[in-house]
Amino acid sequence: MANLSQAIKQHAYTLGFSMAGVTTCETLPHKDVFNAWLDSGRHGEMAYLERQRSRECRDNPGALLPECQSILVVGVRYPRPVPIGAEQNLAARLHGKIASYAWGMDYHRTLSEQLQQLVKFIEARVGHPVPNRTYTDTGPLLERELAQRAGLGWIGKNTCLINPYQGSYFLLGEVLLGLELEPDEPFANDRCGTCQRCINTCPTGCILPDRTLDARRCISYLTIELKTAIPAELRSLMDNWVFGCDVCQQVCPWNRFASPHADQVYGNCQIEPASQLLQEIMLSDSDFKNKYRHSPIARAKRRGYLRNVAVASGNSHNPAAVPALANVLMGDAEPLVRAHAAWALGKIGNRSAKQALKNAAGGESDPQVKLEIQAALAVMDQ
Ligand code: SF4
Repeated sequence: MANLSQAIKQHAYTLGFSMAGVTTCETLPHKDVFNAWLDSGRHGEMAYLERQRSRECRDNPGALLPECQSILVVGVRYPRPVPIGAEQNLAARLHGKIASYAWGMDYHRTLSEQLQQLVKFIEARVGHPVPNRTYTDTGPLLERELAQRAGLGWIGKNTCLINPYQGSYFLLGEVLLGLELEPDEPFANDRCGTCQRCINTCPTGCILPDRTLDARRCISYLTIELKTAIPAELRSLMDNWVFGCDVCQQVCPWNRFASPHADQVYGNCQIEPASQLLQEIMLSDSDFKNKYRHSPIARAKRRGYLRNVAVASGNSHNPAAVPALANVLMGDAEPLVRAHAAWALGKIGNRSAKQALKNAAGGESDPQVKLEIQAALAVMDQ
């Protein structure tokens, strides 16, 4: 079994994964912490986390695969963004930032294919079919806890899994197997120590002292999972993030030596790390689908993504964004996008922004957009 475990991990490295470890399918100890987090409502609108089946399976891999005897956990690195402080002033230049995991193709598809390759290798090695299920952030599994138990790292105060040699810029995948393998030693140490950098630097203060996040304040949640209006009090704190956020990883000292390059399994990067806000805000439905069909950005859908682009444009304070925002406010079919364009014009706050808001006020029929226009004008009149 030890030899088989070694051979499987070795094959994972050959396929291009950077990390591989094996753990048992015993229940995980932190279900109560997770359930308490859910019960406090800190998961925001992510209702799928609350489903009864999710609650039942989350700590119990055997509920997902009754034959489960072992779990192979793998990690694949995505490219490291530049550290905080080394960035150019992209916001003022009307560029929007995209979290680095999303620079490539949608990993759900690419990693799943590679996990299936691993299953084929295992079956060929043992000479018979092996009951299995694969996951890449696609099912109700506490995957970071499994990774910690498989020896891949510890869960940092920012809730990311951190590997002492690779940092935290990696994705996880799991293969549940109806096959007994030699498990690795769990990663026992917490190497965050007295560091608090992620807690102190998070722009919205979403990292809580008990190692959980208030997702409702997390920029990743606000730009991806939230499907409605972004709370007005958080918009100014979001800087120019238009999809996800890397700040709590960028400040983490364990990422100083992380690789700037992605693993082969991750694939090539398709998306520029910084998007051109004035081009993005003009994307039609079909433009958006064509551009982001194979990208994680598709998850935000056009309405959510353009909402984020409008907020980033407002946070740029750049008057060059006013004509595009005025066009959106007058002509976009989506009230959510118009509402955030109104906020952005108020944020830029110059004479032409004010005129654009006044021009739109009379013809606007959506009550929420009307309120946003009035609020933006009121701020400018103060
Ligand atoms: Fe831990 Fe510091 Fe990294 Fe936060 S920034 S995860 S506290 S080491």
